Amino acid sequence: MNNFEDFCTKFVQSVGNKEGAVSPVLVTSASFAYADAQTGEGIFDGSIKKPLYSRMGNPTSAKLESIMADMDGGIGAIATSSGMAATTLATMSLLSSGDEIVSIGGLFGGTYALFSETLSRFGIKTHFFDVDEFENITNAINENTKIIFLESVGNPNMRLPDIKKIAAIANAAEVAFIVDNTITPMSISPLKLGADIAVYSTTKIISGNSSALGGCAVFRAINDGDDKFKTQRYNFLAKFIKGAGKMALIPNAKKRAMRDFGMSANAHSSYQTMLGLETLPLRMQRIVQSVEIVADELDKNGFKVNHPSLKSHPQNERYLSDFSNGCGTLLTIDMGTKERAFEFLNKTKLVTLTANIGDSRTLALHMASTIYRDFDKETKKFLGISEGLIRISIGLENPQDIINDFLNAAK
Ligand SMILES: *Cc1c(COP(=O)(O)O)cnc(C)c1O
Repeated sequence: MNNFEDFCTKFVQSVGNKEGAVSPVLVTSASFAYADAQTGEGIFDGSIKKPLYSRMGNPTSAKLESIMADMDGGIGAIATSSGMAATTLATMSLLSSGDEIVSIGGLFGGTYALFSETLSRFGIKTHFFDVDEFENITNAINENTKIIFLESVGNPNMRLPDIKKIAAIANAAEVAFIVDNTITPMSISPLKLGADIAVYSTTKIISGNSSALGGCAVFRAINDGDDKFKTQRYNFLAKFIKGAGKMALIPNAKKRAMRDFGMSANAHSSYQTMLGLETLPLRMQRIVQSVEIVADELDKNGFKVNHPSLKSHPQNERYLSDFSNGCGTLLTIDMGTKERAFEFLNKTKLVTLTANIGDSRTLALHMASTIYRDFDKETKKFLGISEGLIRISIGLENPQDIINDFLNAAK
């Protein structure tokens, strides 16, 4: 169980400086000057640890990276320009044409499109499975499989995977396991449960107020002895393991993705993100309580609600055992038809209609007409997108005000 109290101490203490400027120092320079030619050479060969050029790393983003790595129990992190950039960085750094991904459970629309449309254009094939298809998942792994990927809470289908069990499958098959943990380690810590890389959209609850687009990938250490990343499947990592040892996944991601795709974090966003991080545990603690209250009350009032805290949810037991601090800010309601969903959304007063989640304010969006509009019927069915589905991200308002607004809008 993760402890909100420990995170409260950790974040305020690590974001603020103890000497000089208390707030994180914002360094916006794109480039950095080298004292002399020898220093320039040393910075490029890695023997001198100083900033090279902001596409490859920035001091403000570096502070965010060290806090994110620590938050997750990783050895290091790379901040990126968005959550999608973090997923692209983590996956592309391990993939080549002909490789395969095994993707499990509910999937954010952008990630689904990345795997099914974009990566397939480059000869990478993805197999999609529901959360508990353990046998099919195991059988789908072959010598070309480089990544097992899942979301710790399916957005927006609210499926909860058994991360420990899937980590065991990934480790037995010696395949990298990446978890999109945008719900944050306030709820669950994938690296501690056996994942290799955790990716985040910091745009959401981490920043928390719609002020900064950003993402982050957090990496585990390579083991001194045997490690699946030392096998033939990941032979391209050998030179990074030789050069950087435990840290190898970081230069691998920088050189095989960040340097050439350029999905680097912007210092302004990293600064804003750290301001958000300071209060993340407090906001999360309040919102996960409110989500349960709202889900329960709407359920009692005859709404078709999807949230794992409800007995009717297929992973209610897993929610109670593995997600003792809740599972983020989302719940969904199914209004039956697009017309009824639109009518409901247009009648709400407190809700902000937008394609975002994890904000201080309560947000809502009709799924089929927006993020999932380009997907075919079968894909929408697999991702749990019905015609009347509304995704709601609960905010910091008084939960009773939210409930009243919803009941009023449904009249
Ligand atoms: C929003 C989101 C993303 C993408 O993040 P951006 O910052 O918008 O690029 C990825 N995964 C999940 C679960 C998300 O909610």
